[in-house]
Amino acid sequence: MMEERIRTELDGFVRESPLNHFSDSGEPYFDPPLIGFAAAEDPIFTEYKQTIGPFHQTPVEVLASVLGAAVRAASIICWILPITKQTRESNRNEIKYPSRAWSHTRNFGGQFNTALRRHLVSWLGGLDWHAVAPQMGPDWQQLSSTPVGIASTWSERHAAYAAGLGTFSLNDALITPKGIAHTCGSVITDLHLTPTPRPYPHFRHNCLFFREGSCGKCIKRCPVGALSRKGHDKDLCNQYVYGTVVSAVAELYGVQHTGCGLCQTNVPCESTIPVESRQKL
Ligand code: SF4
Ligand code: SF4
Repeated sequence: MMEERIRTELDGFVRESPLNHFSDSGEPYFDPPLIGFAAAEDPIFTEYKQTIGPFHQTPVEVLASVLGAAVRAASIICWILPITKQTRESNRNEIKYPSRAWSHTRNFGGQFNTALRRHLVSWLGGLDWHAVAPQMGPDWQQLSSTPVGIASTWSERHAAYAAGLGTFSLNDALITPKGIAHTCGSVITDLHLTPTPRPYPHFRHNCLFFREGSCGKCIKRCPVGALSRKGHDKDLCNQYVYGTVVSAVAELYGVQHTGCGLCQTNVPCESTIPVESRQKL
């Protein structure tokens, strides 16, 4: 079964790659991945042109733009890389800027995620399958001004949702069985794979705010008020994460990208799907 071979290959790369380890401690950036598959013809990718915007590409469009229309996308391989407990714990006590370990995970772990995408594309190519990592494609763009705020031509989170890996949250992240503190990635291929079912009753089911009108702990964790009962102010969040925080700690930590993640740590959904609220709104 190709699904199992892909799982084994991704697991092995995450476990063994030196790029998935802190250079000083040798500890990993990420725990073993959650992996799911979506069908390229799933109507959800066409629906994303309505819910995200017409600029969001379908898997067929992504593969055709890189390899030509003769190569037809069949599947999307998606993964979630959960951030380790040690790093999550380091961020729990922070109230203004992310911890050093969190920033190193965002920066160097992000580089590892790029290496993982390249590895999977190359491994599939070695088996005579075509594959493209959308976020590394020539057409991938982040658009700063769309009706839904900052958005890109391929959303890794929406691909992961399509592949049954989680549901969306008040802070616009994805709550998976391993929680919200993670990063995700995807590769599109012409290999046919069995899609993973989407087991959740609602696209926001795993967030307590949407499921039972409770929690909201992420609102209190945001140092700049980018979260409220109305949702996530993407512009305010981006100004803080890519401006203020970078100016404040990037040089100190020796990174270019810092992340923030305060709303993803010290919250009930940090490392699991919360079953009930401990803190009513
Ligand atoms: S902290 Fe609570 S309200 Fe915020 S995303 Fe997690 S479950 Fe939803
Ligand atoms: S990432 Fe940081 S700035 Fe953005 S919403 Fe979360 S806590 Fe606020």
